[in-house]
Amino acid sequence: MLQDKDRIFTNLYGYQSWHLDAARARGAWDNTKALLELGQDTIIDRIKASGLRGRGGAGFPTGMKWSFMPKNPTPERPSFLVINADESEPGSCKDREIIRHDPHLLIEGALVAGFAMRARAAYIYIRGEYIREAETLFAAVAEAYAAGLVGKNACGSGYDFDVFVHRGAGAYICGEETAMIESLEGKKGQPRLKPPFPAGAGLYGCPTTVNNVESIAVAPTILRRSPEWFASFGAENNKGTKLFQISGHVEKPCVVEESMSISFRELIEKHCGGIRGGWDNLLAVIPGGSSVPLVPAAQIMDCAMDFDGLKAVGSGLGTAAVIVMDKSTDIVRAISRLSYFYKHESCGQCTPCREGTGWMWRVMERMRTGDADISEIDTLHQVTKQVEGHTICALGDAAAWPIQGLIKHFRPEMERRINERRSGGLETMQEAAE
Ligand code: SF4
Repeated sequence: MLQDKDRIFTNLYGYQSWHLDAARARGAWDNTKALLELGQDTIIDRIKASGLRGRGGAGFPTGMKWSFMPKNPTPERPSFLVINADESEPGSCKDREIIRHDPHLLIEGALVAGFAMRARAAYIYIRGEYIREAETLFAAVAEAYAAGLVGKNACGSGYDFDVFVHRGAGAYICGEETAMIESLEGKKGQPRLKPPFPAGAGLYGCPTTVNNVESIAVAPTILRRSPEWFASFGAENNKGTKLFQISGHVEKPCVVEESMSISFRELIEKHCGGIRGGWDNLLAVIPGGSSVPLVPAAQIMDCAMDFDGLKAVGSGLGTAAVIVMDKSTDIVRAISRLSYFYKHESCGQCTPCREGTGWMWRVMERMRTGDADISEIDTLHQVTKQVEGHTICALGDAAAWPIQGLIKHFRPEMERRINERRSGGLETMQEAAE
C-alpha cells in the first residue's frame, strides 16, 4: 500500500485549506524557478524517465507528447498548453478533487509543463457543471498572479506564462481534445478529423498539447523528488502513483491515491472496506470509466489495476474510475443506461455514431425487457463492430465497448430474459415503463 510520505496529493480530502499559503506549506511552489532552470529538454527527459503516462484515459507517454511540440515557436505562431478538466466520463471524479482541494498543484504543473513545451499560455478547460470548483480555480489562479508565480516573469524566471480558466457548457464530447479546442475557439464543440494533430495545428491553428489535470498536477513533484522515485511504483510500463475513483457497491466509495498495478482486491479491501455483501456478492466491474468493457468478478479479483493488467482481461484503465457492481445489479439495464448516455452525447457529425448510438440504445432497451429475438444479440454485436473504429472520434468506440463486454460475458443473462419474456415471465416494455 502506498505510504503517506509518497503521496503527491496530500490534501485530496480537503482537510487543509486550498489557498496559496497552505499549498506552499505542503510543498507546492517551492523554488519553482529552480525547476525551470533545469531547462526545457531536461524537464522533458525527466518526465520521460519517470514513465508517466497520460492520466486522462489514453495512457500516452506524457514526456513524449511534450517533445512533439516545436522547439522554436514564433510570436506569430505561439504554442499552447490546454488542460483537460472536463471530466465528464461517468464514474470519473478525481480531477474535481484536485481542483477543489489542491488547485495550486495544477497551476504550478501548468507552468512547468507549459515552460517545458515552450508554450505561451495554458488554458484550463473546466467542466461547466463544476461551478464551485471553477470558482476555486479562478481564485487560485488570481492568487498565483498576485504572488508573481504566473504571468510576466513567472516565478522570477524571466519566462512569461499566462493561465486562463475556461468554463465548458456541459457537453461530454468537449472532453475530446479537438472538440475542446473547437469549444475554446468559441465554436460548437465537435471533434476535428486528425491529422492534423494538435501538436501541428491545434488551438487557433497553433501547436497545442492537451493534457489531463492529473498528468499536469504530478509533474512538479516528479521533478522535485526524481523520476526514479516516481518510477519505483507500479509494474514495468505502468509506472507511478494514480488516483483511483471507486464507486458503486463497495462499503466505502472513495477517491484514493495508490500505486499503479495494485491488485483490485487489495485496492477494495484497503480503501473501500470490501464489497457490499462480501466478495461472493461481486458481479462485475467497469474498471476505467463507463467507456471501457466490464470485467466479470472472477477475472478482475486479482487483476493488476494498470494499463496492461486491464488490457489483458479485455478492458482498460481509462481514467481509473472503478464502478463496482454487486449481484443486485440489473446488468443489462446498467449497460442500456450507458448506451442512452452515449446516444445523448453523440455530436452527430458521423453517421455510424449518430445513427448507431440511437439504434444500439433502442435494441438495448428491448434486451432489457426481454422484448427481443435471440438472433438480435448477434445483430447488435455486428452493429457495435460497424460503429467501432469507423468514426471521427472515440465516442463511437466508447458506445460500442460496454455492449460488447456485456455480450461477451453476460450473453446467457440476455438470452434468459428473452426466453422468460416469451414465456410470459417478464413484463413488456410498456409495462416496464409504467
Ligand atoms: Fe461526433 Fe460521435 Fe463522430 Fe465523435 S464519433 S465526431 S461524437 S458523431
